[in-house]
Amino acid sequence: EMFGQLTTGLESAWNKLRGVGVLTKENIAEPMRDIRRALLEADIVHDELVQLMGGEVSDIVFAKSGPTVILLAGLQGVGKTTVCAKLAFYLKKLGKSCMLVAADIYRPAAIDQLTILGKQVGVPVYSEGTEAKPTQITKNAMEEAKSKNIDAIVVDTAGRLQIDRSMMDELKEVKKAVNPTEVLLVVDAMTGQEAAALVTTFNIEIGITGAILTKLDGDSRGGAALSVKEVSGRPIKFVGRGERLEDLELFYPDRMAQRVLGMGDVLSFVEKTQEVMRQEEAIELQKKIMSAKFDFNDFLKQSQNVAKMGSMSRIIGMMPGMNKITPAQIREAEKRLAFVESMINAMTAEEREKPELLAESRERRIRVAEESGKTEQEVSQLVAQLFQMRAQMQKLMGMVQGQEAIAGMG
Ligand code: GDP
Repeated sequence: EMFGQLTTGLESAWNKLRGVGVLTKENIAEPMRDIRRALLEADIVHDELVQLMGGEVSDIVFAKSGPTVILLAGLQGVGKTTVCAKLAFYLKKLGKSCMLVAADIYRPAAIDQLTILGKQVGVPVYSEGTEAKPTQITKNAMEEAKSKNIDAIVVDTAGRLQIDRSMMDELKEVKKAVNPTEVLLVVDAMTGQEAAALVTTFNIEIGITGAILTKLDGDSRGGAALSVKEVSGRPIKFVGRGERLEDLELFYPDRMAQRVLGMGDVLSFVEKTQEVMRQEEAIELQKKIMSAKFDFNDFLKQSQNVAKMGSMSRIIGMMPGMNKITPAQIREAEKRLAFVESMINAMTAEEREKPELLAESRERRIRVAEESGKTEQEVSQLVAQLFQMRAQMQKLMGMVQGQEAIAGMG
């Protein structure tokens, strides 16, 4: 699987990081190596993605003689009518004369919408109302374009909420009647997984020459872009990035690969990692542990690190396939930090450095509880937790030192 290595690499790094209680120079090294390796591999994935999506930019093909006919197909609401106007705007910029054709006869509103958009762009809109047949409308429009020496017509066809027989049959008929230069399938970038099936069906039924991916300005990573070329052999030609006329751009496979992989996310992931693991801090912590001085200040620092890791996991969550850490778990970690923080903030500097003071004095614990709005029991638990952590760390250190001693004896 394409993303397999990148995903596994980052995931394994993450698991190693999550597994360590205290971050040290030593235990950071391996996860960092994993991340570096994953990033190197991602670069290879990147190139593969670019190839998968067609490699190169693919512009509109124009007819050798007579008007170029661009037939737009797609489900309802994907942005087909908007794309008609955007394409007319694009063609005009190229110096081509253009006409829009209202062949969606089922929604009178669609004809009105196209008429308004045509006015905005400054191109004529051909319409015969809702009574004529789409095939006839398109044929007549082509004749008119021919007689007026118009370079291209863009045909807005009817969409349905789902693929259905009558829509496909109608598209087939229109296609047969006018033999379009381009048959472009308009696909909503949010379509995700179903995009492959959609493109396949349209391609088998009517035969497409390319696709246009709309609404790429939204949250979608644009994963739908990955399947178009693979399942149809046809390129994505344009992407829509907004509702305005100028928000249509040629499709650049390398830029899309970047987006799909979220290189930006990966880079900020690395930055965050480094931020969390500032080495001096880790070394200082380690010294504290070895001298059994781990106090509430360290405890707080570590809880904050864990929460930072939580927000880091949010970035990992954006990676393809990396959604194992749920937002609920992140919220839980952050809630826990806020909970702990309020109690530690209510401690005096002396109490933070000498947790024994709290262990020995019930009055102090009650005071911290009152000041932080927590119960005495909750404060006692926090104090107990700190001593537990200390004991565990001591034990761990003892084991390491013990092993070193044993190794030294050999
Ligand atoms: P149709 O039913 O396929 O003809 O879809 P429309 O052209 O009427 O578009 C449906 C909605 O999507 C409208 O509100 C458009 O403004 C909006 N829309 C179309 N393309 C884009 C796009 O690239 N980005 C965003 N954000 N909205 C779009």
